[in-house]
Amino acid sequence: MIKKLIRKILGTKSKAARDANTPVVLGPEAHGIDPRLLSNNAIRVTSTLQEAGYEAFVVGGAVRDLLLGVKPKDFDIATNATPEQVKRLFRRAFIIGKRFQIVHVMFGNDLLEVTTFRGTTSANAPKDEHGRVLRDNTFGSQAEDAERRDFTINAMYYNPANQQVLDYHGGIEDIRAKTLRIIGKPEERYREDPVRMLRVVRFAAKLKFSIEPETGAPIKVMAPLINNVPAARVFDEMLKLLMSGHALACLQQLRKEGLHHGLLPLLDVVLEQPMGFKFVTLALDSTDARIHAGKTVSPGFLFASLLWHQVLEKWEAYRAAGEQTIPALHLAADDVLDSQTEKLALQRKIGSDMRDIWAMQPRFERRTGKAPHKLLEHQRFRAGYDFLLLRCASGEIDAEIGEWWTAFYESDEASREDLISSASQTSGGGNGGAGGAKRKRGPRRGGRNRNRGGEGAGADNAAPAHDGGAD
Ligand code: ATP
Ligand code: MG
Repeated sequence: MIKKLIRKILGTKSKAARDANTPVVLGPEAHGIDPRLLSNNAIRVTSTLQEAGYEAFVVGGAVRDLLLGVKPKDFDIATNATPEQVKRLFRRAFIIGKRFQIVHVMFGNDLLEVTTFRGTTSANAPKDEHGRVLRDNTFGSQAEDAERRDFTINAMYYNPANQQVLDYHGGIEDIRAKTLRIIGKPEERYREDPVRMLRVVRFAAKLKFSIEPETGAPIKVMAPLINNVPAARVFDEMLKLLMSGHALACLQQLRKEGLHHGLLPLLDVVLEQPMGFKFVTLALDSTDARIHAGKTVSPGFLFASLLWHQVLEKWEAYRAAGEQTIPALHLAADDVLDSQTEKLALQRKIGSDMRDIWAMQPRFERRTGKAPHKLLEHQRFRAGYDFLLLRCASGEIDAEIGEWWTAFYESDEASREDLISSASQTSGGGNGGAGGAKRKRGPRRGGRNRNRGGEGAGADNAAPAHDGGAD
């Protein structure tokens, strides 16, 4: 009891000290980071900077992951050298960004982001009418840099040379308690940058941390502020969320926090349609599985899945209004892409991948003559096929189509001819794509079919299924 009390008092004291710009310094025994989890290139960058007389640390998510015993997927470096000074030290270094310049240092394909310590947001930084900070680009001290980071667990600095961790905001304690705590006053921080609310959700779901009550409290009320954030930034953060390997958990958490309403039209639609929900759940499950297996996931495939049921609905409406099947599908795709791009700033390449995947779907229904061979040669056949399997697995279309295509895809030439002739003899074989896509018969042969589709759509074993990969 007394020990606890003392720790509590000390804890508050040390917090006060941290506010006074003095970090808690932890040595290797105290933090327990395994230095083997560090990349050689991260060490190369910090030591080059240090040899030139600057301070340099691994920072942010990488330190958090190192403390959690996870190999970081990338390394960010923070330094007191200016971008110009950094650039001079490396052969392949590029200054990017207009407002706040950072340096990309490249070794082969490995990219490290080197950022000069940023100053805290000054009271007179330009803001929009809702209080969102528009420009904030002054350099500062390390303590100031720590203060303007989002969460305590993201504001620690690791120096590979002496293996010390500098912790300004109690990040270590929060990591140990698995707590996500925003630095500073939550309302203020969300107002400055509403994207932080999406980040709360992403980290909580990804790390399985609980959200400290004061950090979580304002989100429901402040959620609409996301509407004022430029679409491109929302898109970047959404992509990170969907590619986190915990996409489903993230979406569920978004919903719980009320962050899906109105702010991301996509999620409004997705999470509130029962049929769509099943499809999206399967798609996200398979995305998560691919990420955990270290495979690529294409954003086009992901967004095509998220929006498919919206396309289906509009496709049906156009057909009901007298349009032919294929033009109706294209019109539906246009509508959906147009309505989303306004807010989500889907990049053009992603939009065209989505369209390809959707447009391929009726072609899977044509199983006569040369049509299946032609489809097999399509540049994005694999993505279209995975998508077809998802549709089967969700019960949207008959599982038999998916099974046929699996057999066709995996067969040699002679067996392919047999498959085509057997398909021509059955009534379902060659309906010319005339609207078979909306037969909601459900998975007739339940478990087996569902499994089969799930497997194919999920962590498929062939090389890059949905070409493209995460960017
Ligand atoms: P991940 O492992 O998913 O990349 P991360 O914490 O590294 O997680 P990044 O988006 O790469 O996330 O950001 C790097 C660091 O920059 C964060 O750890 C945090 O310190 C800081 N940061 C990023 N976005 C914000 C923000 N909106 N507000 C304040 N600090 C931020
Ligand atoms: Mg990062």
